Amino acid sequence: MSRPLAITTLGLVHIYRTEGHDVAALSGVDFSVAAGDVVGLLGPSGSGKSTLLSLLGGLLRPSAGRVFVGEHELSTMSPAQIDAYQAVEASLMLQGARRNLVPYLDVRENVAFAQVQARRLGADVPDVGHVLNLVGATAFADRPLSALSQGQLQMSALAVAMASAPGVLLADEPTSALDRSAREVILDALLRVNAQEGTTIVAVTHDPEVAERLPRTVTIRDGRIGGEGRRGREYAVVTADGFVPLPVHIRADLPPGTLLRWERSEQGYTVVPEVIGHDPAQTD
Ligand code: ADP
Ligand code: MG
Repeated sequence: MSRPLAITTLGLVHIYRTEGHDVAALSGVDFSVAAGDVVGLLGPSGSGKSTLLSLLGGLLRPSAGRVFVGEHELSTMSPAQIDAYQAVEASLMLQGARRNLVPYLDVRENVAFAQVQARRLGADVPDVGHVLNLVGATAFADRPLSALSQGQLQMSALAVAMASAPGVLLADEPTSALDRSAREVILDALLRVNAQEGTTIVAVTHDPEVAERLPRTVTIRDGRIGGEGRRGREYAVVTADGFVPLPVHIRADLPPGTLLRWERSEQGYTVVPEVIGHDPAQTD
């Protein structure tokens, strides 16, 4: 049983410095997940989802801002501390199952291999058989990877990620490239891992059907948190600096320059779009 870890990022900024130009992948992300929660990370391609997972997994260092996972502040950890964090406490499942697997080992050997560093660091690791059972990979655990379906490879990648019983599981598009029934199997496995082990899970997904089955989703847009969902229902979020990025389907109805008024009632606030002419600052 792992000890679930909470996640908090404050003003997280990540800039990729490439030849010729810089790309701001994240521009001020305040993101929190309670210990033991499951959160789906949504957003269009290029919005910064993989970058955020890589920062949470300690694979990248933020350009600015802070990342807290459990008691750790990742932004101040040494390379040796990051190594221990990755081996024991946080697992990152990269997009594309095979990138997480050693090709010439079978599933059972892959899980055992993934435990080597955690053991070396003195961590308690679960039995390989327990991990295989937990994710549902026992039936094909002794077959070579070349004999496995895409869905089984994804299950194997999940088994490897769970090998050290981490407190946080970060999964980048674990259901993409799968047919519908395989997607269901993976999603069931993720939810079972959370229910049985308590692991905090952040999973990137493009799939609205997957999102609907998650208690909470967070949408990233243009490198910022652009919305929150609860079982498929979308909400706008007020950012730390007071901005409210509108969900895309609302924004389409409200062109730039639209003036909004807030009316207070007993239930809370109602937002009233008001057409009283155009704000000249927003046109041309
Ligand atoms: P997503 O996972 O949501 O598709 P990414 O986090 O992969 O988004 O990318 C966010 C932005 O950062 C994109 O504009 C992408 O082109 C850019 N980017 C991602 N990785 C790199 C990299 N290694 N070097 C330069 N730019 C990158
Ligand atoms: Mg990505």
